[in-house]
Amino acid sequence: MVNTSSAPTLDVLIVGAGLSGIGAARHLQVRCPGKTFALLEARAALGGTWDLFRYPGIRSDSDMHTLGYNFKPWTAAKAIADGPSILSYIREAAHETGVDQHIRYRHAVKRAAWSSQDALWTVDCEHTTNDGVQTVQIKARFLYLCSGYYSYAEGYAPKFEGQGDFNGQVIHPQFWPENLDYANKRVVVVGSGATAVTLVPSMAEKAAHVTMLQRSPTYVVSRPGKDGLALRLQRLLPDRLAYTLTRWKNVVLNIFFFQLARRRPEGVKKVLIGLAKRQAGQGVDPVNFTPKYNPWDQRVCVVPDGDLFRQLRAGKASVVTDTIERFTATGVRLNSGKELAADIVVTATGLKLNALGDIQVSVDGRSCNANQSLVYRGMMLSGVPNMAMAFGYTNSSWTLKADLTAERVCRLLNHMDSKGLRSVVAQPGKDVSPLPFLELSSGYVQRAASVLPRQGSRRPWQVYQNYLLDMFSIRFSRIADGVVQFSR
Ligand SMILES: Cc1cc2nc3c(=O)[nH]c(=O)nc-3n(C[C@H](O)[C@H](O)[C@H](O)COP(=O)(O)OP(=O)(O)OC[C@H]3O[C@@H](n4cnc5c(N)ncnc54)[C@H](O)[C@@H]3O)c2cc1C
Repeated sequence: MVNTSSAPTLDVLIVGAGLSGIGAARHLQVRCPGKTFALLEARAALGGTWDLFRYPGIRSDSDMHTLGYNFKPWTAAKAIADGPSILSYIREAAHETGVDQHIRYRHAVKRAAWSSQDALWTVDCEHTTNDGVQTVQIKARFLYLCSGYYSYAEGYAPKFEGQGDFNGQVIHPQFWPENLDYANKRVVVVGSGATAVTLVPSMAEKAAHVTMLQRSPTYVVSRPGKDGLALRLQRLLPDRLAYTLTRWKNVVLNIFFFQLARRRPEGVKKVLIGLAKRQAGQGVDPVNFTPKYNPWDQRVCVVPDGDLFRQLRAGKASVVTDTIERFTATGVRLNSGKELAADIVVTATGLKLNALGDIQVSVDGRSCNANQSLVYRGMMLSGVPNMAMAFGYTNSSWTLKADLTAERVCRLLNHMDSKGLRSVVAQPGKDVSPLPFLELSSGYVQRAASVLPRQGSRRPWQVYQNYLLDMFSIRFSRIADGVVQFSR
């Protein structure tokens, strides 16, 4: 049954009440105080990623001074924070601003149809109640997708031969069973990304032994869990000033190290591999920390205070570089012939990336395929009017870009109001050629290449993984830049 809501048309409809959605709503409240808005959230809770993921040790891998919002100082001692603290921070932000009053939970957006004649979006969502699922229709003038970048319904979990023969448990980190007892159990964690390097040291504290089984090595870098300078500044200065200074210090250092890695890959490679080798200790074959690619061809993994290396040195964890031939009743057999005995196998094999929150978007009856669109200033899709999306950085904190995007959306809305304009659409010229949206060579990015939108070969269609460049492209550049077209 479709419930065509008689509620008034909203100015802005935000999809998703995660880190980006809560931030977007706050920016809207402050910069566009007259605007009506709501957040539609598929789940029964806010926080997105930071509420969904519950595996042992869940934490950020970027610092909270840049993963935090620009409007809410992060004041806790740890800069690399655990998941529950991040969730509390997001909840607090939503509560103290009153944004939480605008969230409609259990509303999964399925379709969004734009009508140029009415300059309106008609959005169909499935509202789950105790009595079942109802389709609710909502109308809005602007659609703001803060729906993240991966499927909440499924993770990426390749099927291995013989998996059914295994007598133990196979677990994907995205669907961690509550109260899983892994004390004194033998655990194999399949993967070498951010999740694997988080899980291994954390589980090693209670498990009999944890083996990280990786197909290929990743760059793993130790970083202090606490930021000494941030703590000193916090003691000396007001919270907001201390936070802003630390944020800028981290922005600049991140950009510096990223640029260094891209411009001097051989030197940086040598240093990173040397550090990992020293920290992992004699017992670990350095080949396990010697990737075949250059730093930042794929994401560099951060381990706070070298926790992974500590467990490797203590013999509580080990790392094996090999591939799975098949599961057996008692563990996994590798293509080298070696067997790993296991009670629990964790498939930290990654996320399934998606686009536009898996929403079927159409413009005047024509279905819109994100992959056929180019991204304007990293936030609007070509040919899709009155819609923006939040998509953060892959080499730095997500929120830096999400904040910039939210600011520009507000500026755009205010500009349209002041000129009496009803719609805006970005259209590339013929001289812009399409390029992949993300430049990482990681499997999860490559698998999603046909799903994600694309960036263009020139400004303002390029997606910078650089906050300073985005400051100019998103924060300071003119709204009426001749690329976006407005209608009355
Ligand atoms: C384990 C893990 C660790 C991470 N660590 C870091 C880190 O340290 N630093 C960093 O910068 N980034 C990190 N990331 C990336 C992280 O996802 C972002 O930092 C940030 O949480 C993204 O926020 P978001 O609100 O855009 O998306 P999400 O957190 O994914 O939230 C999206 C929300 O939208 C809702 N939604 C989606 N589709 C629909 C729909 N169709 N209808 C209604 N609601 C919908 C979802 O239910 C969810 O609540 C990490 C990601 C993971 C998975």
